[in-house]
Amino acid sequence: MLQINNLSKAFRGKQVLRDIRFSVAPGEIVGLIGMSGSGKSTIAKCMLGLEKPTEGEILWNGRSLLTWNQKSSWRQAIQIVFQDPRASLNPRWTIQRSLAEPLINFNMASDKRSKWQPKELDTRVQQLLLEVGLDERFMQRYPDELSTGQCQRVCIARALAPGPKLIVLDEPLSALDVTIQAQMLVLLKELHATQQVSYLFISHDIAVVSELCERVLVIDKGIIVEDNTAQGLIYDTKHAYTRKLLADTP
Ligand code: ADP
Ligand code: MG
Repeated sequence: MLQINNLSKAFRGKQVLRDIRFSVAPGEIVGLIGMSGSGKSTIAKCMLGLEKPTEGEILWNGRSLLTWNQKSSWRQAIQIVFQDPRASLNPRWTIQRSLAEPLINFNMASDKRSKWQPKELDTRVQQLLLEVGLDERFMQRYPDELSTGQCQRVCIARALAPGPKLIVLDEPLSALDVTIQAQMLVLLKELHATQQVSYLFISHDIAVVSELCERVLVIDKGIIVEDNTAQGLIYDTKHAYTRKLLADTP
């Protein structure tokens, strides 16, 4: 479904990604781990069309992102959830509005030719909230009335709204307490089981990644040094850098 070939990225001559290549199949959960500054978010931004690769190509079912960039179908197919949920929600918007916006933008009404009826829109927003374990009472609230974990649930609901095929989760648990992290992992597993969606799960936490992901990519200074199963990563580590990451894990 997603295919990245020879992706390189430099910022003002500074090489940040080198010859990145990997693919994500429908329904797959792929982990991407590496230390801070190794280039994980830059890969995510290139996939979202937020950064332009210096070299290489990103293909979606064989079509290039670079030529398909402006099409809303690309923006609909890949969604992202960021590390800081509070910063990625508009503080002046109710939760209802934050979730209605992507539905309207991508015209995800049940009848694609007509506009959303207000009642139908509310029903869909309620449904999205329920999918992430929140109820309709949250609709009229603002982000500052929610906990960080609840904000992240809203961000996940917002990512689900356009009916994406792939969700990039860029360190989605890092801002959360450990107990909330565990609840969020349960939610992500449930959603994966019920929605037809793949994840690219970015993290620097090897324990979390090996719990959620079937396949794991390890990135070190802009180079993917390992592409392994989650099991293989721990029991048959291919690369010295991965062994170092494992050794640093409590
Ligand atoms: P990670 O997400 O793994 O922590 P990033 O992809 O955010 O890493 O960053 C990788 C490297 O690229 C870092 O050295 C960072 O300083 C640099 N970088 C990221 N974005 C920019 C930018 N817009 N301009 C210049 N350098 C950048
Ligand atoms: Mg990052």
